[in-house]
Amino acid sequence: MQPFTGSFTQQEALDDEAILAATEVLRSGRLHRYNTVADELSQASQLEQAFAAYQGSRYCLACASGGYAMAIALRAAGLQQGEAVLTNGFTLAPVPGAITAAGGKPLLVEITEDMVIDLADLERKALESQARFLLLSNMRGHLADMDHLSEIVRKHGLILIEDCAHTMGAAWNGIKSGNFGLAGCFSTQTYKHLNSGEGGLLTSDDPEFMARAIILSGSYMLYERHGAAPPPQVFEQVRLETPNMSGRMDNLRAAILLPQLARLDESIERWNQRYREVEQGLAGVYGLLLRHRPDQESFVGSSIQFRLPGIDAAAARTFVADAKALGVELKWFGNDDPVGFTSNHHSWRYVEAQPLPGTDRVLAGLFDMRLPLTFSLEDCRHVAAIIAHCAAPWAMAQAS
Ligand SMILES: *Cc1c(COP(=O)(O)O)cnc(C)c1O
Repeated sequence: MQPFTGSFTQQEALDDEAILAATEVLRSGRLHRYNTVADELSQASQLEQAFAAYQGSRYCLACASGGYAMAIALRAAGLQQGEAVLTNGFTLAPVPGAITAAGGKPLLVEITEDMVIDLADLERKALESQARFLLLSNMRGHLADMDHLSEIVRKHGLILIEDCAHTMGAAWNGIKSGNFGLAGCFSTQTYKHLNSGEGGLLTSDDPEFMARAIILSGSYMLYERHGAAPPPQVFEQVRLETPNMSGRMDNLRAAILLPQLARLDESIERWNQRYREVEQGLAGVYGLLLRHRPDQESFVGSSIQFRLPGIDAAAARTFVADAKALGVELKWFGNDDPVGFTSNHHSWRYVEAQPLPGTDRVLAGLFDMRLPLTFSLEDCRHVAAIIAHCAAPWAMAQAS
């Protein structure tokens, strides 16, 4: 088997349009979002308008990171110190981190074999805990049955905030991910769907919520210069009672995001071509399970996950090492110790330990891989062939 030599962490270079836009900001020296002349609309404000239009939301706030967007969303929604926040037991560390930063306590909900929040467990825990908040993480771009989830949210009066770090551009039954509850939180960190190094976007249709979020983000009394904000009178209620927790986006990052956003749907198509290629290459491996993508879901295949259910830890380690030796970087969520970006709920020790046997069972056999747009379709076929090759010993043992 020929090794693969591509890089799983190399995103596409920024194009000339973005570089030109960045250069113009640098030449102006006006990098701060409120450093405008006359009635100029800053790049940060332009980005807010453009993303609100893309998302179909009334308001948008550009800020420092996806994790920051979630933390101020919880605060702006009225989270009290020590209050419980329901969230997925399988997600990335910034999610329990944001809940903790906002003064809340993560109340972890099991996931299903499809890697989405377990709606039966959600309903049970919502009832038991009387929690008011659900920070739903659409981890790795997998959407739960959003019709059923919305029903639970309504029935229990939950305040829903969506973590859309992997679902920017995704939809359920034609409704964009992020538009199902009070707010949507997005990341423009390098490994997500738009790349400004770091950055976040928060969307909502609720004027008072958004006014609070804007003040929290560090707008001083300059909130009238925002691009997709509620009218000034809404701020009158909240401007002096909301703390400043500076986490603004600057014009340089906004400038390079604008041209990327204009091409987001095109990028999504390219991601999905790559996803389908790998999916097809893995479809025939005995015992390897890929998620069946529901008809209602339009997803963004910027990464792919598969399961080898029942694999033990030693075999999983061997499998990951064999793939790595052939140049394929797989992440395994069953590891005891967190590696790189990957961790599971056992290593969030600042969170009260909570038994999640169903989640642990899924994670023990769950593997994950990025699909950067720098991969060609041929690269994707090659990578899939290597995974199939490395899974063969395990598959053979299953079959016999
Ligand atoms: C990346 C990520 C975030 C937040 O990203 P930041 O690095 O804070 O911008 C949130 N949730 C998930 C699932 C993520 O992967």
